[in-house]
Amino acid sequence: MRAPLHAARQGGHSFTSVLIANRGEIAARIRRACLELGLRPILVASEADRTTGAPGEKGGPLSIGPSAPARSYLNQAAILLAARVTGAEAVHPGYGFLSENADFAEAVEKAGLVFIGPPASAIRIMGDKIAAKRAMMAAGVPCVPGPGEPLPGDAEAVRAIAEEIGYPVIVKAAGGGGGRGMRVVRESAEVADAITITREEARRAFGKPELYMEKFLEHPRHVEFQVLCDNHGNAVWVGHRDCSIQRRHQKVVEEAPAPAIAPELAQRIGERCAEACRQIGYRGVGTFEFLYEHGEFYFIEMNTRLQVEHPVTEMTAGVDLVHEQLLTAQGELLSPSRFRGEAHGHAFECRINAEDPATFVAAPGRITAVRFPSGPGIRVDTHVSAGYRVSPYYDSLIAKLIVHAPTRAAAIRRMQVALSETRIEGISTNLPLHERIFADADFVRGCVDIHHLEKRLREEPRVQA
Ligand code: ADP
Repeated sequence: MRAPLHAARQGGHSFTSVLIANRGEIAARIRRACLELGLRPILVASEADRTTGAPGEKGGPLSIGPSAPARSYLNQAAILLAARVTGAEAVHPGYGFLSENADFAEAVEKAGLVFIGPPASAIRIMGDKIAAKRAMMAAGVPCVPGPGEPLPGDAEAVRAIAEEIGYPVIVKAAGGGGGRGMRVVRESAEVADAITITREEARRAFGKPELYMEKFLEHPRHVEFQVLCDNHGNAVWVGHRDCSIQRRHQKVVEEAPAPAIAPELAQRIGERCAEACRQIGYRGVGTFEFLYEHGEFYFIEMNTRLQVEHPVTEMTAGVDLVHEQLLTAQGELLSPSRFRGEAHGHAFECRINAEDPATFVAAPGRITAVRFPSGPGIRVDTHVSAGYRVSPYYDSLIAKLIVHAPTRAAAIRRMQVALSETRIEGISTNLPLHERIFADADFVRGCVDIHHLEKRLREEPRVQA
């Protein structure tokens, strides 16, 4: 058991109210956690969300601007003003939007509020993939082979680097994100064009022309480690997840623990991640993303925020990560012995999106009827109910269906039943895709690579409802 809050609280600013600078399911999730800890949640909403019925308190959420994200959820001045007028003492950024914006973290602290997340300096390091790779190398975290340095301007010198790594290689933008700003190069004749195109893309999309190069792994799995740190230099790893079921670099299904990872190896990598956190003065929750191939881990990036898929770790590690964020931000001490990276049972999460199941095009509209599953080991994180209008302005995630069971096989069966009980009417969703994934023999066997889903969709593009 943890010590009483008031006894352990130190090294942070205690607060009693939290402005939630986000929307959708994650705003609902954070609001609930605040209430459970006796904190006052303050919700904000764009015009679009005010009319769709965002999770509300009395009087509804405070308006922070028009529907376009740039004018509301990304509008730092509007959010800081909302914090001032409501008397908020802390800001939780959720995921997406301003959650990995170092300038915002700094502005929040400058306004005398607690930013529930890492220090701006850590966000900055991890926002630059070259700096991140260097920091990881320094902490002994295994990285994808390739120098942790920007590529030189001269194509001949770049070719020499590629030859040393060995083809195929991947050229990546230091400031890249969202699966953009990357190009695979399979032979030396492709090097010059790949550099020119990716550099131009990087300059335009991320305002940062630096590129770097590493080995391209052909059939990796995506395995990530959850870490948790307090303000006193304690850092622990809380478990790992497999997020290999992806389409266009977007995760669709996640599970914890990642299957068939040797416990000693996981322990070693998890400890390295925790050590890296100590070295960069990290605070709060974070995720180290790795590619995993032929029994080896290769770091690709760190996400300095709560992730969409955090519930599968919560279910298997017996921890509430949002509570931990709120408590450690107030200076509470972590008790490292509570976290041994062990998983109890197995959990899956399906991201339910409002989208056409065949074309994947977003399908906003009004939900006319909804029925979510229930029963032992079932969790639904959502902000929608019948009558909710899914807005075209934001990402199409409308619910996360999470199951937990003693074994992976039992969890798969539980998800199959849960999916069969789920009904969302009035709009199209990707529920048929999830049913298909959970009926796929290779997925059921476990350990498919990051190309598996796209390969299946190429083989048989139509998903049957
Ligand atoms: P982003 O910040 O855009 O998400 P990442 O570095 O996390 O960029 O890479 C996104 C995806 O690109 C990975 O999940 C993986 O599918 C692919 N990828 C990145 N680096 C490599 C690599 N060295 N080899 C193979 N695939 C890679």
